[in-house]
Amino acid sequence: MNIALIAHDKKKKDIINFSIAYQHTLKKHNLYATGTTGKMVAEATGLDVNLFQSGPLGGDQQIGAMIANDKMDMIIFLRDPLTAQPHEPDVSALMRLCDVYYIPLATNIAAAEIFVRGLDNGDFQWREIVKEKKEKDNRK
Ligand code: PGA
Repeated sequence: MNIALIAHDKKKKDIINFSIAYQHTLKKHNLYATGTTGKMVAEATGLDVNLFQSGPLGGDQQIGAMIANDKMDMIIFLRDPLTAQPHEPDVSALMRLCDVYYIPLATNIAAAEIFVRGLDNGDFQWREIVKEKKEKDNRK
């Protein structure tokens, strides 16, 4: 599964601790991240992370483009709800696309933990089925 990790600055510590705690699960998947988040996660865990631009420089939009191209299966986006973000429109656009394409989106650590445990339980297998069906339909 393709999983995107994003964390606003005040949530960086949380995403690092989360990635360390669940690295054994995360390493079985393709990880993507906005620039600063991804660099910090990779340094803290040694996980392979595909880096996009930093969020304020377009990273959220790059992840949004992957969603629109059906290339993203889960988004873990630890948002800071108490600080204004210069790229708020990009944040809203990313969340909107998750809803347009039915992509599971966790916006806080409590939901993120449930998601990552769900990965091990196979709770997200339906994403593979949806993708296979779409690929088949596209070939018709
Ligand atoms: P960053 O971007 O990982 O480059 O800090 C995250 C964001 O603010 O969207």
